[in-house]
Amino acid sequence: MLSQFGDDAKLLAGGQSLIPLMKLRFANPKHLVDLNFIPGTSYIKEENGALRFGPMTRHAEIEASSEVAKIPILHDCAAGIADVQVRNRGTIGGSLAEADPSGDWATVLMTLQTNIRCLGPKGDRTVPLADFIKDAYTTALAPDELVSEVMVNARPKNSGGAYLAFKRSAPVYPTASAAVQLTMEGDICKDAAILLGCVGLIPIKAKEAESALRGKQITDKAISSAAESARAAADPQSDMRGSAEYKRTLVGALVKRAIDIAVRRARGEHVEVSHIYA
Ligand SMILES: Cc1cc2nc3c(=O)[nH]c(=O)nc-3n(C[C@H](O)[C@H](O)[C@H](O)COP(=O)(O)OP(=O)(O)OC[C@H]3O[C@@H](n4cnc5c(N)ncnc54)[C@H](O)[C@@H]3O)c2cc1C
Repeated sequence: MLSQFGDDAKLLAGGQSLIPLMKLRFANPKHLVDLNFIPGTSYIKEENGALRFGPMTRHAEIEASSEVAKIPILHDCAAGIADVQVRNRGTIGGSLAEADPSGDWATVLMTLQTNIRCLGPKGDRTVPLADFIKDAYTTALAPDELVSEVMVNARPKNSGGAYLAFKRSAPVYPTASAAVQLTMEGDICKDAAILLGCVGLIPIKAKEAESALRGKQITDKAISSAAESARAAADPQSDMRGSAEYKRTLVGALVKRAIDIAVRRARGEHVEVSHIYA
């Protein structure tokens, strides 16, 4: 149907981004291709520690999943998106396809090795998430392709992560967010992935912050140095959610806290987190 209708058609998943845009007349498609009635598109499958999500899997299903509970950073993300109504309708496939700079999923999934399956009339291809998100509201999808699966690779042993966002209230997008995923070997950080959300057009990989931890003992000094590098890597805009400088300061604080939680989780500690609300 996408091939048939071209630019006149839009896919409808949970409708939590598309319907508000249509209400505001920013989007005005002649045809909606409703994915909600296609069986077999909502699932969470685990295989040897890797997870596969159907594109229509709702945030609320991910939040409640026992398979996802084994990767706490994914639970942090799903449980913190907006409110119950949005989580009951919104889907992981729709979120990634929307590529909203303030969306949570891409920031979190980029700390894990995630691939996106794109399906179209020419067949099926797999794109690493970092290549899938091209720009704000822009992905690698061809006009006649859809997201058919989200695949998260298994994590190495002794890995742990955390996702924290600062929000003015539950039903709004974050002001800033930080996703941290670490692999530990005793006291030494073997590997680190640090992504910053809502402070750039796409999630920002804080490479210097990662280097400040990789191969090092996680001391207060190393955490502060990583947080400072993350602050410098952020590229926020001043808007109704706060000034650019305010958001940079937030990012530093969120990264600090997320590293602490990630280390504890990597050591097997059960740590419950919630986003931070103003
Ligand atoms: C009040 C409110 C607060 C919100 N707060 C947050 C928040 O804090 N964090 C957050 O991350 N999100 C938030 N959202 C957005 C929410 O997470 C949406 O679920 C998400 O952005 C889009 O998913 P959807 O399934 O609703 O997609 P839809 O709105 O149905 O579709 C979005 C876009 O993706 C396309 N699309 C949908 N599915 C596919 C597919 N499988 N393949 C290709 N293209 C597809 C559609 O054509 C459309 O262009 C909020 C939404 C609302 C209304």
